[in-house]
Amino acid sequence: MKNTKKTLILKPGRDRSVLARHPWVFSGAVDRVEGNPASGESVLVRDASGLALGWAAYSPTSSIRARMWNLNPDEIVDGGFFEGRIQQAITRRLALVPVGETDSLRLVHAESDGLPGLVVDRYADTLVVQILTTGAEFWREVIIDALVKLTGVQTVVERSDVDVRQLEGLAPRSGVLSGQVPGMVEIRENGLRFQVDVLNGQKTGFYLDQRRNRQRVSELAAGREVLNCFCYTGGFSIYALAHGAKQVVSVDSSAEALEMGQAHLALNSLPADLAEWVEGDVFKELRTLRDQGRSFDMVILDPPKFAPTAAQAERAARGYKDINLLGLKLLRPGGILATFSCSGGISAELFQKIVAGAALDAGIDARIVQTLTQGPDHPVGLAFPEGAYLKGLIVQV
Ligand code: SAH
Repeated sequence: MKNTKKTLILKPGRDRSVLARHPWVFSGAVDRVEGNPASGESVLVRDASGLALGWAAYSPTSSIRARMWNLNPDEIVDGGFFEGRIQQAITRRLALVPVGETDSLRLVHAESDGLPGLVVDRYADTLVVQILTTGAEFWREVIIDALVKLTGVQTVVERSDVDVRQLEGLAPRSGVLSGQVPGMVEIRENGLRFQVDVLNGQKTGFYLDQRRNRQRVSELAAGREVLNCFCYTGGFSIYALAHGAKQVVSVDSSAEALEMGQAHLALNSLPADLAEWVEGDVFKELRTLRDQGRSFDMVILDPPKFAPTAAQAERAARGYKDINLLGLKLLRPGGILATFSCSGGISAELFQKIVAGAALDAGIDARIVQTLTQGPDHPVGLAFPEGAYLKGLIVQV
């Protein structure tokens, strides 16, 4: 056992969640830390009686004071450890997402792949890496070397420009780490083509977590007039038109995203006159459409995170209710609402209640015909329910 002087000792009884395989050790569970570990360095976690439980990454400023790397005091966390974990994550993906029609997917999904703080998305032949915690930061070089070795991909981009790094005492960082990024990266998803701005786009460039939902929702879009709110670069819009939608109106506040959405029509040989692109605030535009007396056969609502944590849940709930109420009212009889929340602070149960409340207030009778979640390349560790962030409902009125 190397490094045993750097130790984190838990308070009595606070080893329970660790033993239940939950990866987070909160500051309140920590009795003391010995050996003065550096930020991100590995510490041996012991229970109050001194029994060694496993290794964790130390995070001195975060209320999540440590994140477990393993539950095996004899397994050293080193380059070989990361290679092994990353290889396992990649192997699992191969069994889940058939290659061919799709060349882009999430390879590593942080805690749920046993690698807290590490997100890796593959866009065709480019990897985009997000390092979110001190532990992943500590092993950054090792992790990137392992990724290049195991995937054979030469172009690697870092997009660690996210707010959560602040909680870990880390500054944002982004840029090309190796290879050359040719402006946009063209990807294929379920046979459709999209341009991804891996350097400046939102998140790591594209919302890969919605791949299956774009497919499922668009299967219901044939012959329908569709309103796609928070459309980003037109994912759901392109899918809907490719599946025979009669017309698609797409709304987003980002002019760059809309421009890319328009370009995606030509890229997929879809007629431009079936698509209308509206730059604006969805909360306002839904009211404008209502006041104009417009109606649709399908409304898609895929807003950004209104509530990253439970603390913002109440305000977020009002936002979700507002757009869902307005969206439902724009639907013709028999119409379909595909509505999503990617807020960690809003549970699936609460989300359903909010949508039910919106329907009630709108005076609309509706039923859930399918519940949706994030794609299988964004798995949820069974012991880590926090990993389940995306929920969606297909509702028919
Ligand atoms: N459905 C998309 C992803 C949506 S991400 C896809 O499948 O790719 C959320 C989008 O909402 C972003 O593009 C962001 O620019 C946009 N957005 C955020 N707040 C907004 C608002 N108030 N009005 C309109 N668009 C907004």
